Amino acid sequence: MFLPNAKLRDVFNEPACEKNQGKDARTRKVGCSKPLTPGAAAGGCAFDGAKIALQPITDVAHVIHAPLACEGNSWDNRGAISSGSALWRTSFTTDLTELDIVMGQGERKLFKTIREISQAYAPAAIFVYSTCVTALIGDDIEAVCKHAAAKFGLPVVPINAPGFVGSKNLGNKLAGEALLDHVIGTAEPDDAGPCDINIIGEFNLSGEFWQVKPLLHRLGIRVRACIPGDARYLDIACAHRARAAMIVCSTALISLARKMEERWDIPFFEGSFYGIAATSQALRNIADLLVRKGADPALIDRTEALIAQEEALAWKKLAAYRPRLEGKRVLLNTGGVKSWSLVDALMEIGIEIVGTSVKKSTVEDKERIRQTLKEENQIFESVAPRELYAMLSQGHADMMLSGGRTQFVALKAKTPWLDINQERHNPYAGYDGMVELIRQIDLAIHNPIWSQVREPAPWDSCPAVEDELTSTTSASTTSRAPEKFAHTTAKAVGQG
Ligand code: SF4
Repeated sequence: MFLPNAKLRDVFNEPACEKNQGKDARTRKVGCSKPLTPGAAAGGCAFDGAKIALQPITDVAHVIHAPLACEGNSWDNRGAISSGSALWRTSFTTDLTELDIVMGQGERKLFKTIREISQAYAPAAIFVYSTCVTALIGDDIEAVCKHAAAKFGLPVVPINAPGFVGSKNLGNKLAGEALLDHVIGTAEPDDAGPCDINIIGEFNLSGEFWQVKPLLHRLGIRVRACIPGDARYLDIACAHRARAAMIVCSTALISLARKMEERWDIPFFEGSFYGIAATSQALRNIADLLVRKGADPALIDRTEALIAQEEALAWKKLAAYRPRLEGKRVLLNTGGVKSWSLVDALMEIGIEIVGTSVKKSTVEDKERIRQTLKEENQIFESVAPRELYAMLSQGHADMMLSGGRTQFVALKAKTPWLDINQERHNPYAGYDGMVELIRQIDLAIHNPIWSQVREPAPWDSCPAVEDELTSTTSASTTSRAPEKFAHTTAKAVGQG
């Protein structure tokens, strides 16, 4: 079933997104990136985006209505963590074959899949994702979901974001729309309070939201729903009763935050938990919004007291790292989304930022980075691996922070590297997260391996070894080692 044009127009028309508002009506309709070719997106399509935005909801069975390839090998390919159910990690797909498609069996197979999952796993809900093939053959997943929900007595939610409608980011937004249309507001909490908040666009990567949640608990602030990291279906169904919201990744779910404000009067702000100053500011903003919505004004003083205590503790822990890292030059190649908060966080400890990517950053994000870095040439949209390699091998940076895709560029250039994207293994949020980030940077930069790999190879620099290898290889021999060296030596001699 195709998405109605009105829905797509609505998603593209985001008043809270400055970039979107800067476009004329025609270009706004096209969206933020080129639509993809069905079947040729290899991930990065709208379906992928919708699944990324929703899969961390832990007690939900996520069913991909598609031929097997759309689901692919997605086991734990992002680092979100659950404190309870592990159901979300299991891949469910209707695995449509050509025969199913030719014989028009798609909807029937989907219904049977939902029945099997509801009986075998008793999930809190089932989310059904449409994809290119099932949308093109016209399977009406909304009707199937409605029928199955009534039949099996559990929420079955259609996620209408087939790959060809657009980019991953559009899929993120359509996932938010699905939550608005089918989940949020469908249950009433019996314990709603004046200090309930939602955290939107937080994925709990490596469990990093657990470094922030205890701080909120100490202030008497309850996280009604964290969407989607470590979320339960019921939490999200009750999210409309929160008094305020913080949006962490605005690129993904800003429309959701804005529409929740319009529908349920939940004010929101955009913040970050990366860095000491950013964490403190986020706590202040949360307290501020809650007090404006009727919470006890003493919350402000309690927040300031907690901030003073936690900042002092964090700076004490960081003191040992400052002399080791002050003035070190770091290149940030993050894909852009979190660049601005990381720039602030690293500069707090005296690290110099020699460049940062802003490819996926919003206009606001870019402006923040500009204000912090001042120099325009330190900001780049994206960099080709060849240029990245040149920068690193010429020693323009002491270290690169990036995602896994560019790690080998750094390693080839014999430059320390740290994973800060979604596959990372360490939590970097909150005060403790900042200490951990700096500890990891210190470990990477001062790892003795770098001085060793930068040394010239012994056969390149020592004439005695070179002579020995040359004479060994000129003699006829059958042993393996000299053969190996013969190749190397021949190359070295040839180059010389
Ligand atoms: S939904 Fe379409 S573009 Fe996305 S993975 Fe499946 S076939 Fe490819």
